[in-house]
Amino acid sequence: MHTLLSADQIQSRVRTLAEEIHRDHPNGVHLVCVLKGAFVFLSDLARALPGDCSLDFMAVSSYGKSTRSSGQVQLTKDFDSDLQGRDVVIVEDIVDTGLTLIYLQEILRARSPRHLRTCCLLSKPSRRKVDVAVEYIGFTIEDSFVVGYGLDYGERYRNLPYIGVIEE
Ligand code: 5GP
Repeated sequence: MHTLLSADQIQSRVRTLAEEIHRDHPNGVHLVCVLKGAFVFLSDLARALPGDCSLDFMAVSSYGKSTRSSGQVQLTKDFDSDLQGRDVVIVEDIVDTGLTLIYLQEILRARSPRHLRTCCLLSKPSRRKVDVAVEYIGFTIEDSFVVGYGLDYGERYRNLPYIGVIEE
């Protein structure tokens, strides 16, 4: 494994993302964290947000032990807060094919938020299969399987404070 993004690089970028989100939502924001991968990102991002913030958590089916998307997305945990008229930001670890986010955005848009925006720590544009809007992106990376800072491989490595690439 080698380090792709150090803990310092991540922390500094997360602070900037939080400032951008605050600037676009000066009256507060509702963050929807996509479990499990975004839990570390969410906790740093929420603590770096200067303004009002509330939280919810959703979960979708993961890749399991595979490093490639099956393309089949399933909602495994939902929440029942009312999103009508609220400013909502989805917080996701990584956008790869985009299939997960397209699915989640559709579900949340149907709940009539005032604004629905998306914040991803990482983006792999070369892997995109659908055109999905992501307003806040931490880092754009090449097509390699990354772990750490919440991201796993077979449930391991989520606790790393940095992001690394597993060498095959
Ligand atoms: P998508 O639906 O955009 O193809 O995939 C999004 C999900 O796939 C992410 O939330 C994440 O759980 C998983 N994923 C995509 N790329 C990677 C990666 O490089 N490493 C890890 N650990 N998970 C990934």
